[in-house]
Amino acid sequence: MADSKPREDVFEVFDSGEVKGRGLRALKSLAPGDKVLESTPSVYVLSNSVRGQCCDFCFAKSEDLQRCSKCKFARYCNRECQKNAWKDHKTECERILSVSPNIPTDLVRLMARIMQQQQLQSGKMSSIYTALVSHQKEFDDERKEAFSAIVTVLNQFVGERDFQKSSSGELFNLFGKISCNSFTICDAELQPLGVGIYQTPSLLNHSCLPNCVAIFNGTKLLVHATEQIKQGDELAISYTELLCPSYQRKEDLKNRYLFGCSCSKCLSPLEEDGLMLSLQCSNFSCNGAVPRDLSSGGFVVCNTCGKGLSDKTAASKAQAIISKSEETLKQIKALEKMYNFEAILDLAENILAEQKGFFHKLHFSRVGILDKAMDACIYLELWDRALAFGLQTMDAYKLYYPRNHPSVGIQLFRIGKLQVYLDKLKDGFQTLLQAEAILKVTHGNHPLVQELRELIAQTLEELRVEQNRTVQGMELI
Ligand SMILES: [Zn+2]
Ligand SMILES: [Zn+2]
Ligand SMILES: [Zn+2]
Ligand SMILES: [Zn+2]
Repeated sequence: MADSKPREDVFEVFDSGEVKGRGLRALKSLAPGDKVLESTPSVYVLSNSVRGQCCDFCFAKSEDLQRCSKCKFARYCNRECQKNAWKDHKTECERILSVSPNIPTDLVRLMARIMQQQQLQSGKMSSIYTALVSHQKEFDDERKEAFSAIVTVLNQFVGERDFQKSSSGELFNLFGKISCNSFTICDAELQPLGVGIYQTPSLLNHSCLPNCVAIFNGTKLLVHATEQIKQGDELAISYTELLCPSYQRKEDLKNRYLFGCSCSKCLSPLEEDGLMLSLQCSNFSCNGAVPRDLSSGGFVVCNTCGKGLSDKTAASKAQAIISKSEETLKQIKALEKMYNFEAILDLAENILAEQKGFFHKLHFSRVGILDKAMDACIYLELWDRALAFGLQTMDAYKLYYPRNHPSVGIQLFRIGKLQVYLDKLKDGFQTLLQAEAILKVTHGNHPLVQELRELIAQTLEELRVEQNRTVQGMELI
C-alpha cells in the first residue's frame, strides 16, 4: 500500500487551473533544504537495463544478487528482500516463466502489476489511480499505436483470463495515467534504475524554474525545497532536462507528458536560448560568445567585444553540426547499452573536434557531448582526461541549471573526486565543498551526502599531512 506521508502542515492540494489541474502549494514558508515530503511507490519495477546490477525489491546495487529460483529473472540482495517482494512478484513469477525466453518490457510489467493490485483489492486500490490525470484525449496517432502494441504483449503476459477482466477503455486510461504520472526512479548519481507511481508527488506540477526537487533513496522518493518558498506558493519540480533550449524542453514535455510549459523561462526564452546556441567569437583574443538571434535566425554580436560574425554561412554550418551532434548522442546511447566506452569516446572526440573553435563553451550541444566523454573516461579509468572534460562543462552547468540543482551538485562531486584522486587536493577540497553546499539542499541527509562529507574530511586530513610535510621540509633547509 502506498505510504505517502502527506505532511499536512507543509502543503495542501489545490486546483491550479484548467491547464495544469491539481497541484500542491505551501502552507508555510520553506527554506532551501527543507523537506517537503517523502513517499513510497504504490507500484514500481526495476528496469531491465539494470537487471543483475540492482536488487529487484530495494534497488540497492550489489555484485552478489540471488536469483529467484523459479523464474531466474528477478534478483535480490538476500532472502529478506525476496520475501518482501513476493506478494508483488508471486503472480508475475509464473507469468515470466510462461512467456520465457521472451522478456516483458518495464511498462508491461508495471501495467500488469497495477492490474493485479486492482483485481486483488476489487476496486479499493483503484482510487489511487482514478485520481491521476491521463490526458488521453490529447493522444496522437503515434501514442495510440504504441498503446495497441503494448496491449498485445500485455495480453500474452497476463494471460487471456486475467486480461479479460479489464476493458480496453480501462487499459487505455491506465496507460495514459502511467505515461503522465510515473516517475523515473534514479540512483544517487541520477542514473535511471526503474519506474514507479507515487501518489502525492504525482500532484507536483512542472516548471523550468522549479522551487523543489525530487530525488530517490532506494525506491523512496524525497522532495526538498530548493528555493525560498512563501506560504501559498505553488510547489513545482522539473520533469525535464533543463540544460537545453526551450524548444527541446517543450518537445520533450509534449512527447512525454502531453502539455506545453508556460513558465516565465519558456514565455521569454530568447536570451537564454541564444546563449545555448552561441558561437565562439571570431576575434582571436576574445573568449566571448556570439549568441544566436532566434527571431531572425542569424547571430547577434559578441557579448564581450561586440564584434559580429564575418562568416555568413555560420547559421547553416551551426545547424548541420547540431544535427550531427544529436545523431552522435543517439549512437552513444546505443553504445552505452553495450558498455562499449572505447567507441563512445571515439565518437565524442570526433564531434568535439568539429565543434571546437566554432561552438562556444556555453553551447548546450557541446556540454552534452563533453558529459558523455567524461562518463566514458571514468569507465575507462582515464582520470586525467575525465577531469579535463568535466571541468569544461562547469560554466554551463552553473549558468543554466538553477543554483540548487542536483545535476550541478553531482557534477561537482564527480569532479572533486577526480581532483582528489589525481592528488590535486586543494582544488578537490574546494570543489567538494561546493558540491556539499548544493547536495545538502537537494538530498538532505541522503547516504550520498554522508559519503561526500567523509571524503571532505579525508581530503582535509590529507591536506594537513601535506602541509606538515612542507613545513618540516622547510625547516630542514
Ligand atoms: Zn534488496
Ligand atoms: Zn520469480
Ligand atoms: Zn518552462
Ligand atoms: Zn568577442
